[in-house]
Amino acid sequence: MSQKTGARVLLKHLREAMAEPLGPQERLDKIVQQIAVAMAAEVCSVYVLRTDEVLELFATHGLKADAVHQSQLKVGQGLVGKIASRGKPMNVADAQKHPAFAYLPETGEDAYHAFLGVPMTRAGRALGVLVVQREATERYPQDEVEALETAAMVISDLVASGDLKGLVQQGTELELSRPISLTGVKLSAGIGIGRVVLHEPRVVVEQLFNDNAERELERFAAAIQSVREAIDKMVDRDDMAGDGEHVDVLETYRMFAHDQGWARRIEEGISAGLTAEASTEKVAQENRARMSRSTDPYLRERMNDFDDLARRLMKRLVGAPSSLMSADETAPFVVIAQTMTAAELLDYNSDHLVGLVIEEGTATSHVVIVARALGIAVAQVSDVVPRSENDDHVIVDGDEGSVHLRPVEDLRNAYSERMDFAVKRAARFDALRDMPSVTKDGVEIDLLLNAGLTMDLPQLRASGAAGIGLFRTELQFMISSALPKLGEQATFYRSVLEAADGKPVTFRTLDVGGDKVLPYLRNIKEDNPALGWRAIRLAIDRPGLLRVQLRALLKAAIGHTLRIKLPMITTVGEIDQVRAILDREIAAQGRFGHELPNKILFGTMIEVPSMLFQLDELMTRVDFVSVGSNDLFQFMTASDRTNAAMANRYPPLSRPFLRALREIVRAAERHGVSFHLCGELAGEPLPAMALLAIGYRAISMPGNSIGRVKEMVRAVELSKLTATMNDALDDLEPAQTLRELLRDFADQHGVPV
Ligand code: PEP
Ligand code: MG
Repeated sequence: MSQKTGARVLLKHLREAMAEPLGPQERLDKIVQQIAVAMAAEVCSVYVLRTDEVLELFATHGLKADAVHQSQLKVGQGLVGKIASRGKPMNVADAQKHPAFAYLPETGEDAYHAFLGVPMTRAGRALGVLVVQREATERYPQDEVEALETAAMVISDLVASGDLKGLVQQGTELELSRPISLTGVKLSAGIGIGRVVLHEPRVVVEQLFNDNAERELERFAAAIQSVREAIDKMVDRDDMAGDGEHVDVLETYRMFAHDQGWARRIEEGISAGLTAEASTEKVAQENRARMSRSTDPYLRERMNDFDDLARRLMKRLVGAPSSLMSADETAPFVVIAQTMTAAELLDYNSDHLVGLVIEEGTATSHVVIVARALGIAVAQVSDVVPRSENDDHVIVDGDEGSVHLRPVEDLRNAYSERMDFAVKRAARFDALRDMPSVTKDGVEIDLLLNAGLTMDLPQLRASGAAGIGLFRTELQFMISSALPKLGEQATFYRSVLEAADGKPVTFRTLDVGGDKVLPYLRNIKEDNPALGWRAIRLAIDRPGLLRVQLRALLKAAIGHTLRIKLPMITTVGEIDQVRAILDREIAAQGRFGHELPNKILFGTMIEVPSMLFQLDELMTRVDFVSVGSNDLFQFMTASDRTNAAMANRYPPLSRPFLRALREIVRAAERHGVSFHLCGELAGEPLPAMALLAIGYRAISMPGNSIGRVKEMVRAVELSKLTATMNDALDDLEPAQTLRELLRDFADQHGVPV
């Protein structure tokens, strides 16, 4: 019998053992017996990893039966422990002579010499070790190593399915259910308790064995063909032509895609009985293991190419999974993602979405802004995706920036208590809702709401906000599958004005581009989208979009005051261009005998540093200005607002930034132009206190911040703070950071921040 047929027979038997109606122990016993027979080994044993880092013998064929659930090895101890700690196979001709060998007398293994053990892993995590042993003194050939690795995948699946949980002794738990706590950066306050939904879950191989190898080989041939074509197209794009390093990189990538050895190994797995995806996964895992052992940086780099190719292939084979299909969205859930866009987040059922954990993102990334508008807890945490499984229990702590996967009961209870406390705090803020927003020394502060979706509107009443300082109109566009028509836009804007019930609403015209992508608008690939063709630049070049929006706003605001502001203005010339378009629309409405809003107030955002040096020209052109501190800060400090590595690098409460914000106040006051600030900065009590101190009397923020900020406003004596702050800003040799100064002030004067 050839080796290939042997592997195929083994897989067939394993498939039967998996399908039989057996209890977990019986099934495992049967599996080890099948493997021993197929591999002509006297012994086959499975060790499963527990949370206490102990590998417990769960089943054996050949060793003493009494040793099952008794024999144990620590991770790192003996050959089995080494396999688990290193995550790679060990193939030893005479195990007893190996320096790492640990003798377990209760197993009776002294009779066996040849030893082959392979790790059982899932998504990079060790779950256990599978071992075969023979009396002879010999090394196992490579194809038998591969056959055992395939068998290990089957058993890993059994472990991951939770089937073996019933076999653990009291007081121990399997590694798979190990609780993990990770800390990162807090992005949106609150606590979310629910089950994990992995965004873009790893493609999990659901079917390991094929029914018809011929058909499976055809399916694989079609998939690899289409991956190769896609890669050829990518490499041959005109803009990739020429020479340079990128060409070498792409050509190497193409070479891998066309590599016959790689494809042949997958085909062999299929011929041996695996499905195309199971075989792809197996070869990818082997490649990964092989390459990660290499010290050659070039080869290690290529590991990513292989991984990427395998991912592409898996997607073709399984059909790109829609995360929405696999998610149970009828109970509280937390989305865990490497990165995602705001629109993708909005695809989830927000009624039960209680939290978001992302590996890449910052407080001012749009997905985070939208998550905050949904009122869910958000944290940025590195390396969270590979440690999570769909449906795991999870707690996201947005107040601390941490995530607890598979938390133990004590922790769950502690969090339930904290949630009760948070409910009480919310009740305290609730009581403040109808109280005036006035400082201790009688200065009125307008606390406004940042909004953009229908679901934000109830917050206006619930939070007691004085109005909407920033209505991000692009969010409606981002969640639509097609460009919203004039009538739809007008109806929507009107509903916003009606919900505001006479309170002021400031609409910002479309701010798309950058990381705000409209699915139906042709996207031009840009190297630096935040600095690219976005917002008002796009509106001026494609005025049709803007004209329709302005017309919709004019219609919607009949009988109201219409407040419009323009995003990302860089030169005053841009204001003049848009003003001309608006004037034409107003005139057209008049010509057709349509009514107009009672009053139109025209303003701009200040988000680009160039505006700081044309403040006088700006103020003569507008009725109001609105500082977008998110973008202004990212451009002033040249630090990408979506890059987690930049998140805490430069503090916004710094002298240069606050001096810039103070200059805007001074210029606006010189010209009698009204002004407010609407970035995320306004939503935290301490920075909000700084804004009041430098002269802001209107600030706009997410709805769930208003209570906290109002508590601060009502406790602060502004005249005292203003003097302290202005001195500190002018001080050229400061002894304290502004944050320290503000915190001291708050402590001394009992201001809750
Ligand atoms: C800002 O840049 O501060 C702002 C409010 O706009 P957005 O966050 O939508 O870019
Ligand atoms: Mg902005």
